[in-house]
Amino acid sequence: MEQSREQNASNNIISKARKVLTKYPLCDHCLGRLFAKLGLDLRNDERGKAIKTLLQMILHQELREEKINKEELRKYALNAGDPITRLYQKIFEEKITSLTCYICNNKLSQEYFEELAEKIASLLNEYNAYTFILGVSVPQELVLREIEVSSIIGLETSESIKNEIKREVGKIIKYKYGFEPDFTYPDVTAIIDYVTNEIRLVVNPILIEGRYWKRGRNISHTIWVSRTGTREYPYSLEEFFNDRLKEVFEAERIILHASGREDVDARMLGTGRPMVLEIKNPRFRYVDLDLVNELLKSTLIEAVIHGKSSRLRIEYLKGEGSKKKKAYKILIYTKDPVTNDDLRRLEEFFKNRVVHQRTPLRILRRKKDTLRVRRVYLVKTTKITDHLFEALVYCDGGLYVKELVHGDNERTMPNFSEVLNTRATPLELDVISVETL
Ligand SMILES: [Zn+2]
Repeated sequence: MEQSREQNASNNIISKARKVLTKYPLCDHCLGRLFAKLGLDLRNDERGKAIKTLLQMILHQELREEKINKEELRKYALNAGDPITRLYQKIFEEKITSLTCYICNNKLSQEYFEELAEKIASLLNEYNAYTFILGVSVPQELVLREIEVSSIIGLETSESIKNEIKREVGKIIKYKYGFEPDFTYPDVTAIIDYVTNEIRLVVNPILIEGRYWKRGRNISHTIWVSRTGTREYPYSLEEFFNDRLKEVFEAERIILHASGREDVDARMLGTGRPMVLEIKNPRFRYVDLDLVNELLKSTLIEAVIHGKSSRLRIEYLKGEGSKKKKAYKILIYTKDPVTNDDLRRLEEFFKNRVVHQRTPLRILRRKKDTLRVRRVYLVKTTKITDHLFEALVYCDGGLYVKELVHGDNERTMPNFSEVLNTRATPLELDVISVETL
């Protein structure tokens, strides 16, 4: 029982190999690849060579027993090459040149892998990259030839030529040149063009995370250009990051992903706002964070980077994360004088109060009209003059604070104007806390 099972397994491999080799010339790599899922820690050319060696022994025996003739052996020698050509030459004293591999045209070899690895390693060096992932682009005809061959014996044990190239080249890059494969967040993706042998490098962006402060007003997030093509505001946060960091990373540009955004005329003080910087196409990746933080020190805009980030974090910061609670400080002017009692009433009223807001009139051109429901948790006021007071507002993220004050033609209900029974106008707005995520 045990013996026949063993026989079946080896018969199976050999008979499949014979079936393929009577039809197609295949190099060691391409033959071995048909059995890639059998055996561990073997290269495909080792598999191919082993099968051909065993086949030579079998064919030798069959020849002696006259089960096959010269012509049949010749056919195997042409398609399989060494070591079956050796058998043929030895017995029939006739030189024979094997055919080129039907799938790879004899392109696959250890030298070919070495050459590719060397090229890629030098590119990785040039881009100061440490982690990598490989891709291979092969022509359609090759893929079809590969499927044609492997479908003869079933596809369960085979792998693709792309896989073999990626693995073999990847191993050399790792063990000979010391770079690290990374399948999730590689520094660089190197794509091998099978036909031209050229390497295309896709440099992945660097994502770093931290917080920023904006101590001046009229600074936009990105460059804000009006319809007539002139700039609306002299400076933007994104320009600041580009001015400060583009050079050290030798990057193409830097993109700011912030967790929500304050109005252009509002400052961002206190805790600062969480953000991720995306450094596009960097030539230098491993820039010391202390240096980055040194470069981001400034009086008007400032930022601190805590560490590496990810696409998932950006998604979170811009989605769920932006709904975290915020605190604002607002300087408010009232049309009629307000008393301390009025202000105590305002504070009482807005303790834990739900506010309904239709999309503010000022942004109705850009955004569709929807109803937003947010909560105000706390309002603390300080009277400055009869017409001027300062309010600290602690509320859900995404609440339109200016509209909470003036009411926006009753599109925000309730609002400060309504409760104070006079028109309240926000003069200055600062964000002082964006809750930790
Ligand atoms: Zn081949």
